[in-house]
Amino acid sequence: MKNYFQPEIETMPLEQLQALQSERLVAQVKHVYDNVAYYREKMDKAGVKPEDIKGIEDLPKLPFIEKDELRDQYPYGFLGTPLSEVVRIQSTSGTTGRRVVAFYTMDDIRVWDECCARAIVAAGGSNEDVVHVCYGYGLFTGGPGLNGGSHLVGSMTLPMSSGNTERQIQFMQDLESTILCCTPSYAATIGEVVKKKGVKDTLKLKSGIFGAEPWTEEMRADIEKTLGLKAFDIYGLTEISGPGVSFECEEQKGMHIQEDHFIAEIINPQTGEQLPEGEVGELVFSCITKKAFPLLRYRTRDLCRLTREKCSCGRTHVRMSKIMGRSDDMMVVKGVNVWPSQIEQVIFQLGYQANYVIVVDRENNKDSIELNVEKTPEMAADPNYDVEKATKEIVAGLKSMLGIKVDVNILQPMTLVRSEGKAKRVVDKRNLYTMM
Ligand code: ADP
Ligand code: ZN
Repeated sequence: MKNYFQPEIETMPLEQLQALQSERLVAQVKHVYDNVAYYREKMDKAGVKPEDIKGIEDLPKLPFIEKDELRDQYPYGFLGTPLSEVVRIQSTSGTTGRRVVAFYTMDDIRVWDECCARAIVAAGGSNEDVVHVCYGYGLFTGGPGLNGGSHLVGSMTLPMSSGNTERQIQFMQDLESTILCCTPSYAATIGEVVKKKGVKDTLKLKSGIFGAEPWTEEMRADIEKTLGLKAFDIYGLTEISGPGVSFECEEQKGMHIQEDHFIAEIINPQTGEQLPEGEVGELVFSCITKKAFPLLRYRTRDLCRLTREKCSCGRTHVRMSKIMGRSDDMMVVKGVNVWPSQIEQVIFQLGYQANYVIVVDRENNKDSIELNVEKTPEMAADPNYDVEKATKEIVAGLKSMLGIKVDVNILQPMTLVRSEGKAKRVVDKRNLYTMM
C-alpha cells in the first residue's frame, strides 16, 4: 500500500503539476509586485513587469533574493500582507546579528502543516500513530512544523521539545511513541542512552523524521540500528516555511520537493545561471502559495542536485539529493548556524588578530567546536595578561554571539601555520556532506 497524505497532488502527472506551478507563479508575482515595495523596485530595476512572467519558463527573468537582503529589510520589508492577516512568526536558528523573521497567515500555516503532514504519512504515519516531536519548539521551525503536520494527520502528538533524554525515553515507553521527529544528532543521543540502558526492546518506534542539519548515510544506519526504526530525511528552511519543503519517501533516495507550493531551481552560484537537471549547484526556491512572506528566487546557499527520474513511490515531485555543501562558509554546529566571521568578530572585539583556527568535530554523533587563537605580541609581553581570565572572556563572548559553548585555547604568538594563499580558518573533521 502506498502512503500519501494528498495523493491527487503528490502523484499529479508532471505536465499538470507544471501547469499548476505556472498558474500559481503568475498570480504570486503579481501579489509580490503589488505588495512588497522592495521587490517591486528590484523588478523595476531589472526591467521586468509582472506581465512578463507567463509561466515557469519565465522564472529566470526575475531577480534573486539573498539572505543579506532579508536581514537588511528586517523586520517588515518583505511582508506581503497587512499585519492584521499575520498570525505567527518564526525565526532562523541563526543568532542575534543574523536573525531573519518569517511571517505566516493562517493559510500559510496550513501550507506548511500540509507539507509536514505529507512527510509524516510518507514515513508511514496515520491517525493510529503516536508522533513524538523533540525538535525544539519556539522560534525554531522544527517543533511547530512537525507538530502542525501531525495534527493534520490526526496522530496523537507529543510536543516534547528537545532535552531531558531520560524523560523522552520514559514517554516513548509509556505512551508507545511510533514516530520520532528530531535532529539526527539528537536521535543519535537518544540512541546512545537507549543502548546504555538496554531498553531498545521496550520501544515501539517504527520511523524517524530527522532533519534541520546535514547527516550521512553512516549516521542513518547507526540510528536505524540503535533505535530499531526506519530513518527519513526532511529538509527545509525558515525563509521558505520550515521543515517539509522536501522529504524522503520509503525509497530513501532523495527528498521530494513539494512542488505545488515551491518551485526549485539549481543555479551556478558564481554566474546565477540555471543548470540542467542532474548537475550540482545552489538550490533556489520560489514560494508560489505563501502570502505573508512570499519569497521569489530565494538563494538558499545549499548545494545539491535535482532529479526527475521516476520514483517507485509514485510521487511525481522532483527529488533533491542530500545537501552536499554550502556555497557560503556557514556551518551547522550543534544544530545552530555558525559563520566563521561571527567568531572573528568576537575575538577582534577582544583585541585579538586574525590568527586563529576553528576545529569542528563530531564524536559519538555529538558536535564539538574549538577555537585556537594566538595572543598578540603585546598580550604576550603584558605581565598582567591572565590566560584563564582571557579564555573565559572569549568563551562568554562566543556563547552570547552563537548561543553555543566553544572550547577555547589561547596560543603563543606565531604558533599557527601562516598561509601563503587563502587562509584556511576552519577545519571541519565531520565529513557531513557526502557526494551521492
Ligand atoms: P532550521 O530552523 O531548520 O535550522 P534554518 O532556516 O535556521 O532552519 O536553517 C536552514 C538550513 O539548515 C538549510 O538552509 C540547510 O543548510 C540546513 N538544513 C535543513 N535541513 C537539512 C537537511 N535535511 N539536510 C542538510 N541540511 C539541512
Ligand atoms: Zn519517492
